Amino acid sequence: MDFIDSDTYYVIDRNAGELYGHASIFDYVRNNPNYRKTDAFNIYVPYETVGFAGAAEKRKKVNIAINGFSLINSPTLLNHETGHCLNLKHTFVNWHDNSCEHVTRDPANQHYNANKRGDSITDTAAMPDFQREHYWELRDQGATHEWAEAHYIPYKYVDPVTFEYIGYGTDCQNNSYDILPSDIKNIMAYSPAMPQYTKKFTTAQKIRMHEAILEDSYGEYGAATTTFAALYLPYKGTYPLYYPQPQPMQMPTFQPGFTYNFIECCCNYPQPAEYDDPNFSFDAGNVVKHVDKFETNYASITHPNHSAIMISEVNLALGETQAQKCYDNYDGTPILGGKVTKFNDGIFNTNVTITPKDSTEITDPYLIQSLDNGLYKLETNYINGVDEEIVIYKTGN
Ligand SMILES: [Zn+2]
Repeated sequence: MDFIDSDTYYVIDRNAGELYGHASIFDYVRNNPNYRKTDAFNIYVPYETVGFAGAAEKRKKVNIAINGFSLINSPTLLNHETGHCLNLKHTFVNWHDNSCEHVTRDPANQHYNANKRGDSITDTAAMPDFQREHYWELRDQGATHEWAEAHYIPYKYVDPVTFEYIGYGTDCQNNSYDILPSDIKNIMAYSPAMPQYTKKFTTAQKIRMHEAILEDSYGEYGAATTTFAALYLPYKGTYPLYYPQPQPMQMPTFQPGFTYNFIECCCNYPQPAEYDDPNFSFDAGNVVKHVDKFETNYASITHPNHSAIMISEVNLALGETQAQKCYDNYDGTPILGGKVTKFNDGIFNTNVTITPKDSTEITDPYLIQSLDNGLYKLETNYINGVDEEIVIYKTGN
């Protein structure tokens, strides 16, 4: 994280050449390497952008500019720009001229060009720029440029609820578009705002991105490889020192996309073992928790207490059965004390008698036995701020 102290790039105006022209932000950061890490995606967030929302240079992972105020938190826009970095084009390239992508998906059809035109990706339909289609329609009807711009109604032909295409556009050979909601919801299309994460890449787009990483046209990806050990570190969250842990607490959470088996392990690692520490025992057959590589509830990919981590893909790559990072924590949080609340009427109301207890009294195993019959609440206060309550209704037997 750094700041560019610049009047020029405080607001990046595309029309003033500050995106691609003589004062390009991309050229500026190339010439000022302090502002550009070569082993990372670099995202530049001006105060405001004019004439664009986000931009990226094709295949160059270092360069993304995004409108700071409105869009930095938009996963759609960041995914879209990253798609450009990984060699994806818009789904509608040249849609309005004679070199357009044709509707046919049949490679035997003489007009088939889906593999070469538009975005050169065959599982995205030939489609217009949904944001501009109506604008061009108005122009074609003879409206002046100014009139069309003034009456510009975005996304006229996209049903805002179902995302069905409800236009009647054609490719440049007058074949009616064959557009599905999934085409409209493609990350590389220009389409209406929709709920987070409903925009997707197609399989072929994902393949193209993988290819871009393999091709590595600008030699940018070599230094970004990492170790197996890094996979065994939570990308967020921490291991509690004590149980019960304070709430709320972000538990140690691991990368999706891998197959995890959390294996029962032993003994005494109040914080997880170091990577490659062999001094714990485990039984590979005793799986405490399994996580599928396609798990999408990312918050659920956490490391349970009393278990070590097995990542199937790593074991497959190494040809071993290794479990790492045994976490075996039996430490209870020190108890400060507590109190016993008796509900004198035998129902939950305010007629109560409260007896404070110190840490020895509240943990006394004979505490409940020593109470008279009645309705009670027992509260235990831990040093880490956790308060546990139990309710008991004690009768004669
Ligand atoms: Zn784009």
